[in-house]
Amino acid sequence: MSLSIQYSDQSFKENFRSFCIVGIIIFVCALAGILGRPLFFLAIFWPANAVLLGLFLRYKNLRNIGGWLGAFTSFMLADLVTGNYFILTLFLSIANVLNPIVTLALLRLFKLDFKEFNKGMTFLFLFIICAFGGCLASPVFAVLTIPYIPNTFMSTDRLWVDFGMWWTGEILNVIAFLPILLAIPDKKTCLRFIKDWKTLPFQPKNLTPIIAVIVSVILTHFFIGPGAIMFPIAALVLSSLTYNLFFVSIINCFVCMMMYNSLTAYYIAQSPDAYLATTISVRIGLFMLALTPLTLTIISMNRQKLYHQILYLANHDGLTTAMNRRYFYEESERAVTITPIKPQQAKTVTILILDLDHFKKINDTYGHNVGDLVLQEFTVQVRKQIRDSDLFGRLGGEEFAILLKDLSLQQSVEIAQRICNTAFSTPIILEDGQTLNISVSIGLSYQTLPYCIPFQQLVKRADDALYQAKEKGRNQLCLESSLQNELKMQMQHS
Ligand code: GH3
Ligand code: MG
Ligand code: MG
Repeated sequence: MSLSIQYSDQSFKENFRSFCIVGIIIFVCALAGILGRPLFFLAIFWPANAVLLGLFLRYKNLRNIGGWLGAFTSFMLADLVTGNYFILTLFLSIANVLNPIVTLALLRLFKLDFKEFNKGMTFLFLFIICAFGGCLASPVFAVLTIPYIPNTFMSTDRLWVDFGMWWTGEILNVIAFLPILLAIPDKKTCLRFIKDWKTLPFQPKNLTPIIAVIVSVILTHFFIGPGAIMFPIAALVLSSLTYNLFFVSIINCFVCMMMYNSLTAYYIAQSPDAYLATTISVRIGLFMLALTPLTLTIISMNRQKLYHQILYLANHDGLTTAMNRRYFYEESERAVTITPIKPQQAKTVTILILDLDHFKKINDTYGHNVGDLVLQEFTVQVRKQIRDSDLFGRLGGEEFAILLKDLSLQQSVEIAQRICNTAFSTPIILEDGQTLNISVSIGLSYQTLPYCIPFQQLVKRADDALYQAKEKGRNQLCLESSLQNELKMQMQHS
């Protein structure tokens, strides 16, 4: 009993929350659309339906009875407070909510997962479903009802005109506003963006695409004509190759609105009688124009993702995911080479070469699979002992290397010793429940930068120390010979 009260209390809270959030957002969007109508500039501007669809797709927890009620109430309120009478407002509001209702139903019917929208064709299907689903449902409902009740803007003698205008308007609003909602970055992406913004140097060339977009839109005012619709295409393509989907969507929205204003003003001035044909043509043209940068951004995003995946595979060992030999050497060379552009350059480097003891015996006794498992488990253990900024690579077989940055010799020795102790004291549990004890020998070399001998020699010194460790009976850490005294001195001082 108390559980069901608790549950209904919780569900009421969720619905109320959705009601408020969706209600406020849609009220603002609808009001902006209504207030924009008298201004020719914003005659196309009706973001509410696309925003509602975007909210429900993006934030699933808002898609409940409270959310729908909030949206409907806002559509009604926005029209009523701006002077429409009740019955007309009711039919207009139903027409508006029909767009997201039908689109969501079709998405479910075709099992289209919107979260995949940034992959391949899903994005195009999403817009096809919107355009021929929800965007079509609203005007069909509107022309079947509104002309038959008293109103000032739709009449029975021009049903096709109103239908065409409404439909193309819906489509243009969807392409202008829906991508923004779908591409809103999540918290993690926002934090990463802010971090990059603060840490990475400002690159003026990144402003070129947005400046080019603004210039191309301004140009349409001076050289308006049939070719003007294509003025921003180059700048939009450039933007799609430079910015993320969220920024490209915002730029797209801006271009659509501005271009719609310029082009319809031009064509209507040319031939006022051809209002329907020119306006519908401009809207469809802009829809196609807007599709180009969005599609390109998604292709470019996917390519980048693929490129990073391939780069990762090329640079890391498939079994342990540690860096492979080549990448470890490359990154280590970079870390020890002093460059004036990198003020955060490491001041000391420690190289550890690690080699599992009697590994061949493990393979021979338990089989190669167990040998592989040991390599993986050992990698996990090591990762826990080092920092993300340290470099960790598999040089081959059961031999690994670590480059530690900016540590004193004593700190480096402590870390190496801890790796050695952990490997020895952490038995590896096999599939059949058996446990297996392993041990590792480690050689250490240490260098204070600025560095002058080649990195390879530093590795050689650690390798010689590793040989010593093996000679002395394995399961231990050995330092290169010249470091013994230095360590003693550091320990005396601390
Ligand atoms: P030591 O204590 O002197 O280091 O002896 P060890 O047996 O560890 O060294 P040795 O070089 O004789 O043997 C290394 C073995 O590692 C031989 C090779 O078959 C095995 N090995 C190399 N790469 C892999 C791998 O990816 N998986 C497995 N399971 N074994 C590997
Ligand atoms: Mg070995
Ligand atoms: Mg070996």
